[in-house]
Amino acid sequence: MQSESGVTMEKIVSLAKRRGFIYPGSEIYGGLAGTWDYGPLGIELKNNIKNLWWRLFVQERDDMYGVDAAILMNPRVWEASGHVSGFSDPLVECKKCKRRYRPDQVEKKCPECGGEFGPLRQFNMMFKTHIGATGDESSIVYLRPETAGGMFVNFKNIMDSFHPRLPFGIAQTGKAFRNEIAPRDFLFRTREFEQMEVEYFVRPEEWESNFEQWRQETYRYIAMLGIPRELVHELEVPENERAHYSRRTIDFEFDFPFGRKELAGLAYRTDFDLSAHSKESGVELSYQNDESGEKFCPHVIEPSYGVDRLVLAILTAAYVEDELGGEKRVYLKLNPKIAPVSAAVFPLLKNKPELVSKAREVYVSLKREVPQIMWDDNGNIGKRYRRQDEIGTPACITIDFQTLEDDTVTVRDRDTGKQERVLIADLATRFA
Ligand code: ATP
Repeated sequence: MQSESGVTMEKIVSLAKRRGFIYPGSEIYGGLAGTWDYGPLGIELKNNIKNLWWRLFVQERDDMYGVDAAILMNPRVWEASGHVSGFSDPLVECKKCKRRYRPDQVEKKCPECGGEFGPLRQFNMMFKTHIGATGDESSIVYLRPETAGGMFVNFKNIMDSFHPRLPFGIAQTGKAFRNEIAPRDFLFRTREFEQMEVEYFVRPEEWESNFEQWRQETYRYIAMLGIPRELVHELEVPENERAHYSRRTIDFEFDFPFGRKELAGLAYRTDFDLSAHSKESGVELSYQNDESGEKFCPHVIEPSYGVDRLVLAILTAAYVEDELGGEKRVYLKLNPKIAPVSAAVFPLLKNKPELVSKAREVYVSLKREVPQIMWDDNGNIGKRYRRQDEIGTPACITIDFQTLEDDTVTVRDRDTGKQERVLIADLATRFA
């Protein structure tokens, strides 16, 4: 499938692999369905997305508390949250070859062997494993299917350590695992992925204004990532499709090459989680203000972002094919704030020692100030520009013969190809 900009999934998957962003998981063994590995450039891009989120939603605010809870949790967490009984997708199994499908993705017969399907049943998507040396029912634990649980179980800890006043939030980024029946569309639907979530605790009567604020915050974050606003659409999720805990949910959908699909969610979870965990654990999880004497169970607004879906949206939105100087090229128009490489430094000619040593000097001193700087002296200068364009490097810094005379370098802009001369002394502030 091809979107308006000409980008296809094949082009994105191929560029991501060729240039070291994302590789198929366990590739030399033929892969493992629903898993992907981030390469050197992919991890930089992903870290930039996560760091921006953490900065915006945790560090720059004084009402947020970051945590990093364990992935393995007491299974009663998932009993209380409703995941053990209800976190499932419908499934049909072929009677002959035992292959499993989601009923909405197949016709009446098995597409592999033509066999008949057995009865429709519910398939729980949580991954199970055993904790400790005994392998019986009593040792079952789950890999968390969302990061939210780790924040609700720490509500009391945060209250006791920091005594926050409402509204306040707990934030967490980390891996989540879902045994999706049909993983597909590259990073979009995987079995192991990363989430960035906030549980924002509010007074019940103030949920609507807080919901609205988080809606605006989502657009602010999306804009900072460089995702064009016109590619993002809101879907008001109807009651019968909402999760069991939600009284209102908005999905933020993105125009992926394979269609308009969920990128992030915003849900009003009422006091469902704190009440359920209070009941199941027998530990009171309430908000208390000793000065006013009030005590009640706060309600929750939850903005939830999938890191991998953001990576995919950013790569698709940034992919451009154009012509520069009469030559066709592919480039990633990434926002400089999140590009994996901030700038590349190179000598004009590789075989002129005076240029190479001056370029090394510029590179080493700049890298101390701006870590995401790359050295490149491979092939001719035209090739280096193309290579950097393809990975979205916003600027290329070239050390040429004039540099040896006046300590200026050329800085070439990724999008326009235009060059300007800049003093070496001004580079650090420009790329910081
Ligand atoms: P979907 O309807 O697409 O399965 P969901 O509504 O179950 O998604 P949530 O439970 O709201 O998803 O999870 C919050 C976010 O986590 C999603 O907006 C998405 O970005 C991300 N996410 C969920 N499932 C996956 C997955 N299988 N692979 C990658 N990211 C995912």
